[in-house]
Amino acid sequence: MISRSVSTSTTTIEARFTGADDGDFFVALPASELGPRRALVHPRPWVWLRQVHGAGVVEVADAAAAERLAGTEADAVVTVADDLPVAIHTADCGPVLLVGDSGQLGVAHAGWKGVMAGVLGETADALRRLGALRLQAVLGPAIGPECYEFSPDDLSRLEQRLGPSVRATTSQGNPALDMRAAVRQELISAGIEADDIEVIERCTACDPGFFSHRARVDRGRQALVAWRALEE
Ligand SMILES: [Zn+2]
Repeated sequence: MISRSVSTSTTTIEARFTGADDGDFFVALPASELGPRRALVHPRPWVWLRQVHGAGVVEVADAAAAERLAGTEADAVVTVADDLPVAIHTADCGPVLLVGDSGQLGVAHAGWKGVMAGVLGETADALRRLGALRLQAVLGPAIGPECYEFSPDDLSRLEQRLGPSVRATTSQGNPALDMRAAVRQELISAGIEADDIEVIERCTACDPGFFSHRARVDRGRQALVAWRALEE
């Protein structure tokens, strides 16, 4: 598990990127299996989404809303409620944490389709509506360019939008998408300063510490879960 704590003017945001050792967080698992596994990371009910590679953002106001909104079809969640865990699940796509300067919290599921749909810009906009003036972001483990062979046509479309940094080559020498570059460019387009973006360069495909849909047809999913820490 990879942990990040991000201090803001009002609170600290705690984030966890789980790995294969932490178990499978696939949302369709039986509650009897998923519940205890989630509780080890954060004991309160998690807000989770039916992810569709789109740009839908759900805002969660409080714990009652969290219960109602769990399982909503969307690809990002934002909140300013304390101690309310919000999660997205991935197995190669980018799990992105976004934090506003006065404690606004967002998590987004950003694969290439989600990036092209604009999920990161929509999440940044939602955090600004909640009062964020400045944002920072962390991209967690996602498929690396050395493992992400990509169709030349789709690659050209991404390059048109995001620039040449998204074009890469696999370890086999084939055209590849650099998802980390794609996410970074899209975050910069959404108004986040390059210095405020952290990219955790762990590849879900060639690092056995993670689930990979593409490399191993794993059904398993890792979670990015984050919450606003309660004041001491
Ligand atoms: Zn790799």
